[in-house]
Amino acid sequence: MSEQDTTTPDGTPAPDPGTGDRKGGRRSRKRQPDLNTVYTINADGSRNFLQVADVRGRWTVRKYIIYYFLIAIYLAAPWITIGGHPMVLIDIPGRAAYLMGATFTNQDFHLFFFVLIGAGIGLFVATSLFGRVWCGFACPQTVFMEGVYRPIERLLEGDSIARMKRKRDGGADAAWRKVVKHVLFIFLSWNFAIAFMCYFIPTRTMATVIPFFEGHTTAFIWSLFWTGLLYFDYSWFREQTCLIICPYGRLQSTLVDYDTVIIGYDEKRGEPRGHGVDSGGDCIDCRRCVDVCPTGIDIRNGLQMECIGCTNCIDACDEIMDKVGKPRGLVRFDSSRGFETGKSRLLRPRFFLYGIIIAVLTTLFVLRATQRESFQVTVMRSQGLPFSIENGVIRNLYTLHLQNKTDGTRVYRLAPAPGALAGSAGVEYIIPQDRIELPRLTDRQLTTFVAMPMTSYTGPQEFAFTVTDSASGITQDIKVRFRGP
Ligand code: SF4
Ligand code: SF4
Repeated sequence: MSEQDTTTPDGTPAPDPGTGDRKGGRRSRKRQPDLNTVYTINADGSRNFLQVADVRGRWTVRKYIIYYFLIAIYLAAPWITIGGHPMVLIDIPGRAAYLMGATFTNQDFHLFFFVLIGAGIGLFVATSLFGRVWCGFACPQTVFMEGVYRPIERLLEGDSIARMKRKRDGGADAAWRKVVKHVLFIFLSWNFAIAFMCYFIPTRTMATVIPFFEGHTTAFIWSLFWTGLLYFDYSWFREQTCLIICPYGRLQSTLVDYDTVIIGYDEKRGEPRGHGVDSGGDCIDCRRCVDVCPTGIDIRNGLQMECIGCTNCIDACDEIMDKVGKPRGLVRFDSSRGFETGKSRLLRPRFFLYGIIIAVLTTLFVLRATQRESFQVTVMRSQGLPFSIENGVIRNLYTLHLQNKTDGTRVYRLAPAPGALAGSAGVEYIIPQDRIELPRLTDRQLTTFVAMPMTSYTGPQEFAFTVTDSASGITQDIKVRFRGP
């Protein structure tokens, strides 16, 4: 029996999802997953809410190990300190980011281009090789849904049959279980929301403001927003996030090829289905693989956009094969080539192409990240005329922007570069602040003037200011241009 919910909350049979008709109060013919419709959405646009059946098996065990490992990293990362800073922190007010002991300022933002593109290409490689392995094993949507929320639902409301029965029959027992479930869901969503915010607000600060965020109204509103979003997603919206919102599934058809390892049904071995254990194909048409599918599809219809690669159908079918005494693997990881010919080819040109692109991006990122300057100076364009003339003297105004990109206070010296405007007589440098002390990750604007008698001026000339970090002795020459009439 298929385990998708076909009753309305009042316990009466739902309209036929395909036609919307009630047939004399009797349940109409059960809708089956097909390739033309989204099974979780009825023809009238209403939700066909799934009650996904439990599954056990070797892939389920592997998945849960990965899920809990990832959840542990997610919760712990902001609390782990490397080099005096959180392992991961994006400090938006401070315009800085900390990653594995390295500090990045807003001036280093371009480096994230490499990170984002690298992550995107990495996903392409993984998909090209192993299909939607990301969705099934590492996507937060799956990890939290299958690793936390669904197990709690099963614990409180029972397996899929019991859940459907409770939903249909109602009563005090069903009510208290539902209430406890939703209270737990909200509590967990709040905790996961706070954990997410710890990637943006230091845990030291967060620990002092939770639970009520006194004096931190914005953070409080964000915590409510994320809690509400997570609760809505994991308690009700669920697989719709993967089917409707996430664009990655739609890219699948362009990323996989004949040799991509996907989860599929061995049609050659399985068909003709349902002819009993001793005749026909190996598939006994028990529909167990459909009942355990969190997106409500039938893997026997082939690779579908809705398949998130969760492996539930593999374990479900293996269990059935064990029971009927047939070899496991009727539903398994294999490539389309493997299912058709029995041969697989993992390494192919696109793998090497993606690999080269990732290697280049990683190299560029590492080079740029390790060669970052400890301070940065830029010249800011001044408003109006670039010069003024007073009593036969030309004056140029320069505004420099100096940023300390280190984690400690630094003292900088500002001076004309050696030999600056050396060929012009009577040049005077007016530097109101030639010793600048900057606390960590702060910046300042510095105004300087250069004056030159008109009699010395022969045309625009380039020269430089030198900024020196007193602690390290590192200097930077900032080129500017002296202009006159
Ligand atoms: S679980 Fe296996 S045997 Fe049962 S319907 Fe699915 S493919 Fe066929
Ligand atoms: S078809 Fe199989 S692998 Fe794909 S989502 Fe359904 S149960 Fe998971």
